[in-house]
Amino acid sequence: MRFTTRLLHGSFGPDKATGATTQPIYQTSAFYQETAEDMAQVFAGRKPGFVYTRVSNPTLMSLERRINELEGGAGAVACASGMAAVSQAVLNVLQEGDELVASGGLYGGTSSFFHDLAHYGIRARYAAGDSPEAFEAAITERTRLLYVETIGNPKLDVPDIAALAGVAHAHGIPLFVDNTVTTPYLCQPLALGADVVIHSTSKALNGNGNSIGGLVVSGRQFNWTPDCFPKFKEYRFGPMSFLVRLRMRMVTDYGGCMAPMNAYLTGIGLDTLALRLDRITSTALTLTEDLEERGIQVNYPGLASSPYHELAKRQFGDRFGAMLTICLGSKERAFSFINHLHYALNVSNIGDARTLVIHPATTIFLHASAQEKAAASVTDDLVRINVGLEDPEDLLEDFHQALEHLPRV
Ligand code: PLP
Repeated sequence: MRFTTRLLHGSFGPDKATGATTQPIYQTSAFYQETAEDMAQVFAGRKPGFVYTRVSNPTLMSLERRINELEGGAGAVACASGMAAVSQAVLNVLQEGDELVASGGLYGGTSSFFHDLAHYGIRARYAAGDSPEAFEAAITERTRLLYVETIGNPKLDVPDIAALAGVAHAHGIPLFVDNTVTTPYLCQPLALGADVVIHSTSKALNGNGNSIGGLVVSGRQFNWTPDCFPKFKEYRFGPMSFLVRLRMRMVTDYGGCMAPMNAYLTGIGLDTLALRLDRITSTALTLTEDLEERGIQVNYPGLASSPYHELAKRQFGDRFGAMLTICLGSKERAFSFINHLHYALNVSNIGDARTLVIHPATTIFLHASAQEKAAASVTDDLVRINVGLEDPEDLLEDFHQALEHLPRV
């Protein structure tokens, strides 16, 4: 079965209770069991069933199974947002005294969360470069996981997932990969050796910008030994330990579950993932080639000028995502460009059907230190663009007229 057929006809199929072809919204807080014995059995995990939506729900389960199947994982847990997925996945493993090593170009919300972990005695170190050697150099005896994004938002750096998995495993630690920007249509990190995949489903998986959500997928390989990861002492299920603990301790106790309505809307968006990304990635390439020809400094892994182009081709094939950045020479020129665009909406989001644009330095990175901005390559003249489904010719015309209005340097 190929990608889109698997996406539409994967193992979960139509709703078991009703035959509905679209997964119904089970908009309920709790689930009835006929007898106290049944309830006790379901609670103990000895009988399949549902108890309470914070723990599991059929609408969430449908989405979890579909995305897990696309990622080739052992199982998935839906979360309230991408940040709930990031925080619950990381805190499922780390405890006081532990460290993680991450790439410098992470999404601002994730690096801000990593910064906050210091209050819990957990330290985030950043690799001083993209190479596996740079990650290796940042690892200490306290490091318990490596963390990267398939394409950094907004740095657009591309890590070598297979090489980093090799580095992590040589130290007996897992590799976590945020696959939000690429989605499983472009990249399946578990097949490259990663151990945990994280998604903000608010973005391209949903594709319509209508609901916040997140998802964590676990691989089948990593052995969560309690000697190295004491939180798994009571969860000795081999490679399944991460997943069981994530649902039973993190989402159940911390409460960051997805809402059924959001899972339903995301499931509908997911149906057209491949179709949308074919169009979007083709338009993004057209747009970036055109801007580069006009002498604009463009950053996009699909361009030969990107230092990550060869690696991106190897990992993602011939599709390089919707996100690109341009540098326009000054903050004033960046603001002027954004203000003159008609179709690209000035919005703090990515992965919408509409083209979106933002000035990262004064928004997403508003509270970041100069050092954090430098690590993420966020300069005052940087504009982030997320290409949508509009006709490419209209986007080109719109960009051209906005460039014509740029103030002189
Ligand atoms: N990861 C990446 C790469 C993102 O771009 C974002 C949001 O922009 C998140 C995680 C957080 O997702 P959410 O906004 O759904 O919490």
